[in-house]
Amino acid sequence: MQKLVQHQKKAFKEGDISTHNKRKESLSLLKKLLQENEQNICDAIHDDFGKPYFEAYTSEVATVLHEIDHHLKHLDKWAKPDHVGNSIFTFPSKNTVYKKPFGTVLIIGAWNYPVHLTFQPMVGALSAGNNAVLKPSELAVQTSALIKDLVDQYFECSVLSVVEGAVDETQELLAQPFDKIFFTGSTRVGKIVMKAAAEQLIPVTLELGGKSPAIVHSDANIEIAAKRIWWGKTMNAGQICVAPDYALVHHSVKEQFVEMSRNVLSQFFSDDYITGENYTQIINNDHFDRLANLLDQSHVIHGGTTNKDTRFIEPTLIEADWSSPIMEDEIFGPLLPIVTYQTVEEAKEKLIDRDSPLALYLFTESRDVESDIITNVPFGGGCINETISHLTNPNLPFGGVGHSGMGAYHGKYSFDTFTRLQSVLKKSTWPDPDFRYPPIDPDKLKWLKKLLG
Ligand code: NAD
Repeated sequence: MQKLVQHQKKAFKEGDISTHNKRKESLSLLKKLLQENEQNICDAIHDDFGKPYFEAYTSEVATVLHEIDHHLKHLDKWAKPDHVGNSIFTFPSKNTVYKKPFGTVLIIGAWNYPVHLTFQPMVGALSAGNNAVLKPSELAVQTSALIKDLVDQYFECSVLSVVEGAVDETQELLAQPFDKIFFTGSTRVGKIVMKAAAEQLIPVTLELGGKSPAIVHSDANIEIAAKRIWWGKTMNAGQICVAPDYALVHHSVKEQFVEMSRNVLSQFFSDDYITGENYTQIINNDHFDRLANLLDQSHVIHGGTTNKDTRFIEPTLIEADWSSPIMEDEIFGPLLPIVTYQTVEEAKEKLIDRDSPLALYLFTESRDVESDIITNVPFGGGCINETISHLTNPNLPFGGVGHSGMGAYHGKYSFDTFTRLQSVLKKSTWPDPDFRYPPIDPDKLKWLKKLLG
């Protein structure tokens, strides 16, 4: 690993990695890799945890292709230096902000979108002129091996390399002198990454998780709320960082929401779940047992069927309150606790008291409620009358706040995340008034105060 990182750093210093042509060449190569191997990629993800082809293609391949095109179209403009104005202290001078790549960056991914979560940030890293080492998650075994294989086939290792492995390998990578670390994963491991980065003062972006609420207010369209919340909760069997973790429902519409949930689930799946075809498996036995255990401790309103052989967990609606075990940690599976509230004030208080979530979803027709929640409750990003879709728009920065992360990416925000700003002030050698130079003179101070008003 030490040799690999030294090799990449040397290649970066030699200079041609960051030329606009090389950046575009690398992005086009990544596009080619995805297009030529779309089927293999979807098959590997299917082998790892039974994600249906439709989901794998749309969320892992198509989203990254779209991001690459966006960067190819805009990177010349984004990378241009900004010529900025003067201040009274610097007049006359020319002032410029240069957009510089960090250098050699490390990207560590999570397992739940094993291709998207490594390649999507990598698009930003390459378009900003960096070279990179990728560390995919060891839990998506087949996909991690395929990513390594494909990157080795398509890229020179001075531009892009993959290191496979689990905790030990990641710790070893974290000891290398990278110029930037981009991490996607749990809050627990995020803290480990940040501590390791602090030892070498390496800047980090942390894309973490948390409990993202879906609030259903009394005036919401309950049918749409149920449809869109379950759409977000059943995608990838709830194994999404921005899945609605729990439903926070106004007490007056709880029964209606429960009824609509039953209808919606039976419409979506005709009560016939086939893992790998219309529904995703749980990633492994440990996660299956964790979710089954949560289920055992809960009062089930609808659903609750499990099958350990196929690692299947039915989308399940659960009766809960704020002190229920299922309300402690991020669920990361297809269980949806329903908690009620009486007033918006009460809901806000509870949300502000907890760690700030990565996402928040609000179903309401009221502009006042919308503005009250957006203004007063901190969260990474979210939607009104929708779930999850905010992360598919490259014009919206995607990231968390507090325990759900720091920094953001997607579209230009990815370019910015992998770019450092270098300011340069240029002065002509004429004029050169004595005013600024010692010796200190009380008259000069008088003039200066007049000048500054
Ligand atoms: P994880 O934190 O267990 O693992 C993430 C990465 O860290 C993996 O590559 C793993 O090999 C590495 N790792 C694990 N333990 C480590 C250690 N002790 N030292 C160094 N490296 C270590 O997360 P996960 O289980 O892969 O993913 C699920 C979590 O990720 C959830 O909390 C989810 O919300 C979050 N997530 C966030 C986003 C986002 O964009 N914000 C996206 C997907 C997942």
